Amino acid sequence: MIVLTHTHSDHRGACDELKEKTGAPVAAFHASAAPDFTPDIPLHDGDEIAGMSAIHTPGHASDHLCFARPDGILFSADHVMSWSSTIVSPPDGDMADYCASLQTLLERNDAIYLPGHGPPIREPKSYVAGLLSYRIERERAIVEALKLCPSNSWNLVDRLYSKTDPWLRMAAERNVVAHLLKLRREGKVEECSEIWRSTSLQNAHVS
Ligand SMILES: [Zn+2]
Repeated sequence: MIVLTHTHSDHRGACDELKEKTGAPVAAFHASAAPDFTPDIPLHDGDEIAGMSAIHTPGHASDHLCFARPDGILFSADHVMSWSSTIVSPPDGDMADYCASLQTLLERNDAIYLPGHGPPIREPKSYVAGLLSYRIERERAIVEALKLCPSNSWNLVDRLYSKTDPWLRMAAERNVVAHLLKLRREGKVEECSEIWRSTSLQNAHVS
């Protein structure tokens, strides 16, 4: 059996060939984020598979699953990584879902995470708490920046991130957009012609 955490190409890449050569069925989240992929064994949150529990952890990808073993090992794939922060890229990536999925893991007591990228995470609870507070802080900084001055997403990257590497800048912009969409749903920001502004700034002007 092939167990897939999510359908991003760097995880699913060898899946078809492996299946063809071994005849093994592929188990993955029932609602695939990839239009050209349907799992042979559709999984739902809480399902048991290959001696592991599937935990639906959307955010990085809508079809992302972590897998927890009874011995305390959790395969965290791209939801929680140790080599860099996770990219949350809309429209499939969703920052509210990502934060909720971090909270889901915080409520568990797994002993060690084996991520899809980077070395094992040996104190996962404090690590995940740190990731969550980083996102909350990042979001607060975006709201404060927009209160000072309306801005498009790239200007926000320039104002909030010091990254100069083009790939990291691109990843940062996707995360900023994910935060902005979450904030818009919460009524805290609004967008017109790709310029984002704080709704509290507008309210201040109105009053
Ligand atoms: Zn991924």
